[in-house]
Amino acid sequence: MIADFNLDNITRETIKALKPYSSARDEFQGNSDDMVFLDANENPYENGVNRYPDPQQRSVKALLSEIKNVDTKNILLGNGSDEVLDLIFRAFCEPNQDNVITLPPTYGMYSVLANINAIDIQAVQLDDNFQPKVDAILETANENSKLLFLCSPNNPTGNSFEAASISKLINNFKGIVVIDEAYIDFSNEESWVSRLAEFPNLIVTQTLSKAYGMAGIRLGICYASEAIISILNRLKPPYNVNELTQQKAIAQLENKDLTAKQIASILKERSLLVDALKTVDYVSEIYSSDANFILAKVDDATKRYNQLIEKGIVIRNRTTQPGCENTLRFTVGRPEENKKLIETLKALS
Ligand SMILES: *Cc1c(COP(=O)(O)O)cnc(C)c1O
Repeated sequence: MIADFNLDNITRETIKALKPYSSARDEFQGNSDDMVFLDANENPYENGVNRYPDPQQRSVKALLSEIKNVDTKNILLGNGSDEVLDLIFRAFCEPNQDNVITLPPTYGMYSVLANINAIDIQAVQLDDNFQPKVDAILETANENSKLLFLCSPNNPTGNSFEAASISKLINNFKGIVVIDEAYIDFSNEESWVSRLAEFPNLIVTQTLSKAYGMAGIRLGICYASEAIISILNRLKPPYNVNELTQQKAIAQLENKDLTAKQIASILKERSLLVDALKTVDYVSEIYSSDANFILAKVDDATKRYNQLIEKGIVIRNRTTQPGCENTLRFTVGRPEENKKLIETLKALS
């Protein structure tokens, strides 16, 4: 139970003993214009990026704090969610000893990162409705199970996990539960970020790569207790989020209307795409989606995938994923792109 959760017990000894690198910008943080900065061996001639970036990305965090209604002390930013997830592995999982639990079919990076960090993977496949098998997961967990990855809405299936299941897992898993909310902005479900204060063993990750339209700048977000954030801060590279990324993130996050409009359009297009897929005779199942993509079952996924490539449309063939035989994943595009997709799908024989 969470009552027993002790962060100290699951943090690697190496990390607890670590003395973090202290950068020039950590030691002096004032930014008044009349200061002369001769502390970081930078080139003094201004070009917009000649100075090191803020290692704590305070302006980006202040905006996120306002948008997501979370204290900045509960936020850590990384070079994409991928860096955030890697930091979590390195903080809590002892190589060649610990394991993590993943729920396939799901995002591939959890197992890639586990392999890179020499951490065992205990896979507990989702049930026929792509929901977590809560009891099987808790039975699989042992004293070396440090992380449980819940991707909700899940990639590639598109569905959200039931709140009651997530809640039971957080309450009973003895390690840290990581909820990957990369697609939460397309969903009507409430983010688990609002529940952080209740659960000391909860980490929620989000990203600017999907709904916010900034996959190219690589900005991933980690929300957790102050205690967890402070551990992750000990091991993150000091300047892990570069100046251009911070500037672009600030500009885009300030433009709230644009993001809201784009999300609304993607959701409208998603439902048009679902309606159209229903009329395609070789599509046998369309899975309900809380994300900006749709998973659908067809007669022969590899054949249909290749036919679409020939017509100049690239989608994702998910047929080799557990429980996803003959499925294709369609990202929702702009209206004219979706129109081309639908016309092409209908014309295939
Ligand atoms: C796309 C995606 C991400 C985003 O990763 P970034 O490194 O932030 O671009 C994270 N998790 C899932 C499940 C995704 O599908």
